[in-house]
Amino acid sequence: MTVTVRFAPSPTGRIHIGNARTALFNWLFAMNNKGRFIQRFDDTDIARSTQEYADSILYDLHWLGIFPDVTAYQSRRFEIYDAAVERLKAARVLYACYETPEELDLRRKVRRTRGLPPVYGREALTLTPEQVAEYQSDGRRPHWRFLLPNFTSDPLQPERTEVHWNDLVRGEETVDLASLSDPILMREDGTYLYTLPSVVDDIEMGVSHVIRGDDHVTNTGVQIAIFKALGAEPPVFGHHNLLTTVSGEGLSKRSGALSIESLRSDGIEPMAVASLAVLVGTSENVTAAHDLNELAGHFDPAATSKSASKFDPDELFVLNRTLMHRMSFEEARDRLIVLGISGDKAEPFWMAVRGNLDRLSDAVAWWRILSDGPQEPAEFSGEDRDFLNQAFDVLPEEPWNGTVWKDWTGKIKEATGRKGKPLFMPLRLALTGRTSGPELSDLLPLMGREGTLARRP
Ligand code: GLU
Repeated sequence: MTVTVRFAPSPTGRIHIGNARTALFNWLFAMNNKGRFIQRFDDTDIARSTQEYADSILYDLHWLGIFPDVTAYQSRRFEIYDAAVERLKAARVLYACYETPEELDLRRKVRRTRGLPPVYGREALTLTPEQVAEYQSDGRRPHWRFLLPNFTSDPLQPERTEVHWNDLVRGEETVDLASLSDPILMREDGTYLYTLPSVVDDIEMGVSHVIRGDDHVTNTGVQIAIFKALGAEPPVFGHHNLLTTVSGEGLSKRSGALSIESLRSDGIEPMAVASLAVLVGTSENVTAAHDLNELAGHFDPAATSKSASKFDPDELFVLNRTLMHRMSFEEARDRLIVLGISGDKAEPFWMAVRGNLDRLSDAVAWWRILSDGPQEPAEFSGEDRDFLNQAFDVLPEEPWNGTVWKDWTGKIKEATGRKGKPLFMPLRLALTGRTSGPELSDLLPLMGREGTLARRP
């Protein structure tokens, strides 16, 4: 059996870090099992779904390093779902219901006051042909519910009926079908809710493993019953915990919070996003993986915690700095060229500054400092100004070698008697305009003797 997974968002907004977690869990699972990855857009809600959002999701996935083997849109597959509906109707497990939302609400309240679970009481099954005819002549159209197999012979007498599965993430799981309402699969206007098209596609597309958020655990009980009603073997399921904001709120595609797009425009590297999205809320240490192959080696669905995990964007910057620190010039070269950083000095420059960058684009400010001088020249006391003048007087002649910084500061010490911070800080400020940054021993050769002297205050 070829392992086949799918990532199935509704294209109703930009994806966020929590969606990326689901996508990456599937992608890494496929990588580790030499499987296939299907990108499926659950766009049966035509009013809220757009092609622009679908395209943005594909863009974000590619940015993360996910390249689906197949891309499918549910909105183009209605005939297949219609055929499944006919089969369920023929098997008498899909039945017409005529209640309005208000009527259903009232019934739920009545059930509650009687101490009964607030599930649908299957009243539609007791309608007489006359009552149905009356509804129809009133212009009511039916919605369609799936009859959950939670009874022996009388659907009006549901009994505890456990559905079990061995969850890839959570281990043994059980859902009692008697605790649930028969799910509506099709609305009055003939449109589909998510439940049925998902099962039909999983069957049709040979999905072997469904990995998704744990907000779908209950759905799984229902969907396993639908798989069986359609004569199919259910896939293996895995439900990972969800991510929340630091204050514990759920993430939403609609709010745009922590969207992949916003993280990208903040200069976060894809591997910082991927590493945190996959490793947060697992028993693995959260470290920055260099690429998805390395991350796949740390990925174990069963190591995921069962409770929600807080996602702290500050952690992304920590991982980003690590990735910058480790990024070779080869990897950075093309991106630096785009930022206007090229030529012979680009490589030594990169090696000098990469350890000080929060994000790659921060290199631009350092490149400018080195080529044009401090952006805002520092103010010095009279004493420091005298010191600096003496220091610049003893700047070694060229050619310079790797020890020029050591040689120069040795001479300054001798000439001025200063050492430690009182020696280094005015020099750093004069040379870069900043109080911290890359090693001056690395920067000095990049400025050259002329460039250095031009920084004399
Ligand atoms: N469209 C569903 C969602 O975004 C897919 C759930 C599933 O993976 O089955 O929640």
